[in-house]
Amino acid sequence: MAETAKGPSPKQEITSGYCFFKGEIMPLADANVNITTHALNYGTGCFEGIRAYWNGEQGQLYMLKALEHYQRLLFSCRILKIQLPYTAEELVDWTAKVLAKNEYREDVYIRPLAFKGSQVIKVTLAGLRDELAIFTVPMGDYVSTSGLSAVVSNWQRISDNMIPSRAKVSGAYINPALATDAAVADGYDEAIMLSSDGQVSEASAANLFIVRNGALITTPITSDILEGITRRGIVQLAEHLQIPVEIRPIDRTELYIADEVFLAGTGAQIASITSIDRRPVGDGTLGAVTAKLQEVYYRAVRGMDDRYLDWVTPVYK
Ligand code: PMP
Repeated sequence: MAETAKGPSPKQEITSGYCFFKGEIMPLADANVNITTHALNYGTGCFEGIRAYWNGEQGQLYMLKALEHYQRLLFSCRILKIQLPYTAEELVDWTAKVLAKNEYREDVYIRPLAFKGSQVIKVTLAGLRDELAIFTVPMGDYVSTSGLSAVVSNWQRISDNMIPSRAKVSGAYINPALATDAAVADGYDEAIMLSSDGQVSEASAANLFIVRNGALITTPITSDILEGITRRGIVQLAEHLQIPVEIRPIDRTELYIADEVFLAGTGAQIASITSIDRRPVGDGTLGAVTAKLQEVYYRAVRGMDDRYLDWVTPVYK
């Protein structure tokens, strides 16, 4: 039976192990930045969140869609004028080295972070020194995957012409942090964000899918979403499972009449939403289409399904 991620909470402090910084693998305890660092002051960095899943039977740790994540990191870098002296393939190789150095035999979360490292006051993007770090931490589920309560947030999703949503910009995460904080303070698990036109954009740190009449629907990449890698994978799974997929804008009230709703993201994985604004989604339990996608997904990510071996990269030779 395939399982969701197993391990510590995402709220644990990260203090030990090895990371990649200044072009080499070093103890995490030595990888520090000065308080004057541009990215710390202005949020001028971009990052990725990648998972690696442990397959105990094979004694193998599999990075999930690592190349796609690094390709997106390099796109984020282009938007922020960050120049890295590495190709996406080289970054995948460095990540495998970091994971192997830590000798993980468990599920791991990987955080590449590219940022403006100059120690200057000037608010700008050009002419600053760029840095890259990659750190890793054992981590279980980011949220429960079997039934979350969500609220449509009154915090609007940042739009492309303010802080580009398709780039994973460090400072931009104030936006989902405000939305999630308000949702949790009001007794919900998760926030769904609308874009400036009042239509559904995505959740706080995951893309959103709804199911209506057996078809899977998700918002287009022009709805101020992060162009999710899990989202793309789910579209592929749906095609193989012969579930029709529609990529089109979603109205707020469609959330209230949808048969199923779920989150899709590297951290969130495939997480069912069973109530929105205190209204039950469908019959208020994990839906059949969501459950089917979860079943295939959680096998694929651990390298247990031959059809999706190109999703995973083994760490141990
Ligand atoms: N939207 C946002 C805002 C996110 O932070 C994430 C997580 N990276 C996602 C969507 C899901 O993207 P992915 O499937 O590539 O992890």
